[in-house]
Amino acid sequence: MSLLIVGTVAFDQIETPFGKTERIVGGSAPYIALAAAQFIDEINLVSVIGSDFPDDFIQMMEQRGIRNEGLQVIENGKSFFWSGRYHHDMNTRDTLVTDLNVLDGFDPVIPDSYQSSQYVMLGNLTPDVQMKVIQRLRSRPKLVVMDTMNYWMKPPFREGLDEVMAKVDVVAINDSEARLYTEEYSLVRAARKILDKGPQYVVLKKGENGALLFHEDQVFFAPALPLEEVFDPTGAGDTFAGGFLGYLAKTENLSFDNLKRAVIYGSAMASFCVEKFGTDRLVEVTREEVENRVSDFIDLVQFDIDLVEE
Ligand code: AMP
Repeated sequence: MSLLIVGTVAFDQIETPFGKTERIVGGSAPYIALAAAQFIDEINLVSVIGSDFPDDFIQMMEQRGIRNEGLQVIENGKSFFWSGRYHHDMNTRDTLVTDLNVLDGFDPVIPDSYQSSQYVMLGNLTPDVQMKVIQRLRSRPKLVVMDTMNYWMKPPFREGLDEVMAKVDVVAINDSEARLYTEEYSLVRAARKILDKGPQYVVLKKGENGALLFHEDQVFFAPALPLEEVFDPTGAGDTFAGGFLGYLAKTENLSFDNLKRAVIYGSAMASFCVEKFGTDRLVEVTREEVENRVSDFIDLVQFDIDLVEE
């Protein structure tokens, strides 16, 4: 089963209480793709980079089945650059720099060889680019998942975001973004309002507090694994999405029960992402480690209880 991913391929500079990086590879797409590559071997990447982007990273992704026919390279262009600094709790961060560079005016092209992709991840980008990807797919995929951010929730982008939400199957966003978008503090109410826009499912990511999955009147909660060391949370949300979709594409089962399992696999992948700076941990993690971590999740939440009788 193949997965199409559109997102940023970027340089990031990250500062956490544990240190500061130089310019390292980041962007939503590498996190999504590397997480999904744990489950499937045909991943179709749509993005744009400048000629400053390292070839060896593209080759490393290619070796993992991440195809780059839809990756535009702008000669003499500079790749998207983002820099952020985390607060001490690591759940909040300030954006220091966003240089769009080649992302400015990005027009996503879907190569013919990508047209049969049955699963689609619309990473955080302008709603306009996300909509173009949907419109340029000649047949309706089995499942389309989208991410977004606070910036697109305000005019003049808000209307376009509403239109994309109405076209996708799953909206996966942060709790704070859901609150901002719906003006509801209660996450249950926020999820209901998003479901009313059209998607079948809403995943609300709560950082170190786990994730909630909503569908009709059903709710599922997955905790985040309590980790001894959280080094760099950048890309954890994207990694979650990649693990979630990679698992669904591999198992090809879109029942609510299987989406619950996908949330656990997404959470397991995200727990690796934060252990090192950038994509470093995702690049080295093995299938065995992933399965062991899913077992840790099962142990974390499983308990026997006898209800106290009156
Ligand atoms: P996350 O931590 O899941 O929000 O994802 C972080 C990644 O998103 C970083 O690697 C950035 O390069 C990328 N990013 C940051 N700002 C933007 C933006 N405005 N549009 C698209 N991608 C972004």
